[in-house]
Amino acid sequence: MASQEIEALSSALARLPGLGPRSARRAVLWLVKNRERALPDLLEALDGVSQTLIECDTCGNVDTVNPCGICADPRRDAKALCVVEDVADVWALDRARLFQGCYHVLGGKLSALDGIGPEDLNITSLLERVSVGEVDEVVLAMNATLEGQTTAHYLAERLEKHKVRITQLAHGLPVGGELDYLDEGTLAQALRARRPVS
Ligand SMILES: [Zn+2]
Repeated sequence: MASQEIEALSSALARLPGLGPRSARRAVLWLVKNRERALPDLLEALDGVSQTLIECDTCGNVDTVNPCGICADPRRDAKALCVVEDVADVWALDRARLFQGCYHVLGGKLSALDGIGPEDLNITSLLERVSVGEVDEVVLAMNATLEGQTTAHYLAERLEKHKVRITQLAHGLPVGGELDYLDEGTLAQALRARRPVS
């Protein structure tokens, strides 16, 4: 029987996405074994984020400053907006450092099943950003799921009357992907997005 404190830590960790009860127990065991080395850093980091994390009023990203580091960076192209479903998508795209523009986080996707409509997402603020007139291009970077694509379609319609170029991430063959292993949806997308051989 573990002590109450250890049980409490295990169940708190088990609530994290990607960690079930078993992984949580392994993490706790590791922390117990390495407490002198690992715990102070972890405590400091947790304390730091709990004190300082804040949502950016402009784009919905999460940072320790508002506007966030991306919105405030003068080297970024504010004329190009990449619209994503979640903060994690900003982090994923920005880790790759492929996009030099700014972002807009919807905070989810349209879902009839979960009762999530346009008013539940940060769409009004997106339209406001675009209607101010300083945006040239909106990149719809929704997930390649049915709901993601429904959301992209809806946004494209709402953005139509604004003078912006609307683009979308290409979907198709993953790098290193073999045709034989792909699902039909991916294959169909890849075929539809075919282009001339250069
Ligand atoms: Zn921001």
